[in-house]
This record gives sequence, structure tokens and C-alpha cells, in this order.
Amino acid sequence: MLRHQPGAPGRYRQSGKKHLTLFYPPLTVDADAVLLSQGADPLVIRARRPHLVSLAEQAAREGALLAEPYVEWAVKNVRRFQHQSLELEGGGVLSGELIASQLAGARQVILGVATLGFRIEETIRELMISDPPLGLALDGYGTAGVDELVAWACRRADDIASQSHWNASIPISPGLIGWELGAGQAQLFGILKPDETRVRLMSSGQMTPRKSTTFVIGLGEAIETGVSPCAFCSVSESCRYKGSGHQNIKT
Ligand code: SF4
Repeated sequence: MLRHQPGAPGRYRQSGKKHLTLFYPPLTVDADAVLLSQGADPLVIRARRPHLVSLAEQAAREGALLAEPYVEWAVKNVRRFQHQSLELEGGGVLSGELIASQLAGARQVILGVATLGFRIEETIRELMISDPPLGLALDGYGTAGVDELVAWACRRADDIASQSHWNASIPISPGLIGWELGAGQAQLFGILKPDETRVRLMSSGQMTPRKSTTFVIGLGEAIETGVSPCAFCSVSESCRYKGSGHQNIKT
């Protein structure tokens, strides 16, 4: 049964797999967020390319109807950190250079997967053939939507950490520099075993639907704050937003 959790937007329920909590956060992606996720400056586009604004507005409307925002996560106590690896109570190990550098002091970790679902994915695929401009705009909606889900998870993680006077780390995802995609995905999927009707891991290390992401957030008094994820991002050399703050991260 779905319930409303005090102080938290959206619905949630406890999974039959007891270590998992399932969330259904609301999305607020608007036309400006669609344009931003396509690499465009909304102010410039609104002044010079009104037809692109109309497309982004249409994508925001249709995306809101098609997206099935879903976050599945587990909060795990850290058993110990040794040999550059975090060993978790109840089983599971997270290892990698980035895990060691950012989460060595974690007392708990939140492991999560977030997705917009298969329905919007299928529509994006169809539109890329029948109406590519709208398909690209809806793809932008999907990117912005996943960013928003991770931002939502970060706010929840901050709330949980603050209850113990701890800090929460930046969200760390497989594929960032220092946590190889395939290895990181295998570690997270191996522990979470997410609902396969929602999201699946492919042999490439990518997920289906594509508008999905996985993450780990460390909690503890020794977690360093003020870290910029841009330092670990593989596209930082070419990113126009580098250092200015990504929608789903804390800088
Ligand atoms: S803002 Fe930073 S983390 Fe986000 S894509 Fe750009 S370089 Fe990467």
C-alpha cells in the first residue's frame, strides 16, 4: 500500500525485499529545464528561437504524462573500510578509487536506482523517427527528470544525515572517474537487485530504460563537504556548466 511520508514529497512504500524502500517522487520539469538539459540557454532561446520554446513546452507537458518517476533505495550500515573497500553489514562491498577517496569515513551508505520508466523511453524512440525535434526535446525532459530524481534523493539524504549531526556526500555514480562503470554497476545491482519490471542492467553496463541512474551517497561525521562532482566527471573538459553546479549535485 502506498503512504505519504511526513516531511517528504511523494509517495513511498516498503518493498517485500525488506532492505528496500520504493519512492514515487513528483517531477517539476518545465520548459526551461528541458532547454537547459539540451545544452541551451533558456534566456537566449526565448529571445531568438520561440519555436524551440514551444517544443520544450510541449515536451514538458507530454513528459509529465509519460514519465513514471521511481526511486528504489537501501540504507546500509558500514561494517568496515579496508583494502580500499567499504564492507556493508548484511553483505555487499563497494570498491573503487572514488569510493575510497570519498566514502572511507562513511557510517552508512544509501544505495539507489532512479528511473523514469519504459513508457517515456518508448515514446522518445518512436518520436526520434516520426518527429525528431520533439523526440530530442522529450529526451531532454528525460535527462532533466533523472537529474531531478537524484537531486530529490540528495535532499532526503541530507535530512537523514542531519538527524545524526552527520554530513552527506555527493552522489557517486558508476562511470565517474575512479569508479569504473561495469564494476560499479555490478556492485550496486548485486546489492539492490532492483525490480526488473522497472529497470534492468545490460551487459554493456548501461541500463534500460536509458533515462535511469544509480548512485551511492555516504553518511557520517567524517564525510567531507563542499566537494564538487565536476572533479570526477568524465565530460568536465567540455562541459559549459563545469563548476557552476549541475542540477543533480551539490557544489
Ligand atoms: S556540471 Fe560538472 S558534473 Fe555536471 S556534467 Fe558538467 S562537469 Fe559533469
